[in-house]
Amino acid sequence: MEYNRKLGFKMAVILVTLLGVFLFSGCGRKEEQQTINAISHSVEDIVALEEQTQQVICPLDHVSVENLTYQRPIAVMIENSPAARPQDGLAAAELVFEIPAEGGITRFMALYQHTIPERIGPIRSARDYFIRRALEFDGIYVHCGQSPQAEKMFRAGKVDHLNEMGLGKFFWRIKDRRAPHNLYSSMEKLCSAASYKGYGKDCDFESYDFSSVSMQGGIPEEAIRITYPNRYYVSYDYHAEDDEYTRIMNGKLHADKTTGQQIKPKNIVVQYVSMAVIDSEGRLKVDMVGKGKGILFQGGKQYTITWVKQSESGLTRYYQETGEPVTLMPGKTWIHVVDRNTIVN
Ligand SMILES: [Zn+2]
Repeated sequence: MEYNRKLGFKMAVILVTLLGVFLFSGCGRKEEQQTINAISHSVEDIVALEEQTQQVICPLDHVSVENLTYQRPIAVMIENSPAARPQDGLAAAELVFEIPAEGGITRFMALYQHTIPERIGPIRSARDYFIRRALEFDGIYVHCGQSPQAEKMFRAGKVDHLNEMGLGKFFWRIKDRRAPHNLYSSMEKLCSAASYKGYGKDCDFESYDFSSVSMQGGIPEEAIRITYPNRYYVSYDYHAEDDEYTRIMNGKLHADKTTGQQIKPKNIVVQYVSMAVIDSEGRLKVDMVGKGKGILFQGGKQYTITWVKQSESGLTRYYQETGEPVTLMPGKTWIHVVDRNTIVN
């Protein structure tokens, strides 16, 4: 459609230009020169217009888009306890991290750079290990409250963040669920909050490597199951017709609460790390910096990979068995950071 609209405009400009040539014909050399100038101007205008409407590649997911929403990604903490399901805004998220929180329940960090969901939630509190992943994308980190470890990072000024506590006007509570499972916001409100806080818009992060075709090698694998403790499991089914996976949680298709839009990533990463319980609340220490193993699912195939993260804010790089960097397929990616003992089959 976009192409046709552009083409239509180009045709209109050419027609107007030709009409100009016809009207000016027979008016002498000077006018002829002016007409030629007019034509060349028109062509320049077309080029300029095309440049204006040219698509940009979104650094986060490598999708071709007209605009980025805030330039910098917005990274939102979303709850996944049974009382919070189904959520809103997960299907539109361009990159999602699913990592355990207390008691074997996972939590999500959903990143947005070009999509503009109208409802995102339920929004919950910060954990230090999620912040270490948000920093990789220069993300503006959105949460409601925090763990003591995350508090330390905020106090040290390590990350630009939007805490509902103090910025309540940019959030709302939905009526059909009880607190704390009902805190919502939208991309529009979160971008306003980021501007209100004066956070810079310059986008400065290393993006992953992308390729429109799946990587060489790999083993065919079209059904994936990640089994967490506490009777919680996630599965994905591959659909070759659209080259995507559908996400299933505890046996139910995972879709957004309001729109019913299904979650369909292109790439699924499982990253094995060391985790340990560190307090009586069951809070976890998750070793994000270092190196380890993992699995990538893409194009209906499974690949053995490794990961390396050299510093708190440095990008976690994923490598193939050959040592070459992993390439992701443009589109949505879900990264599961799991304990070494988690069963994936
Ligand atoms: Zn994007």
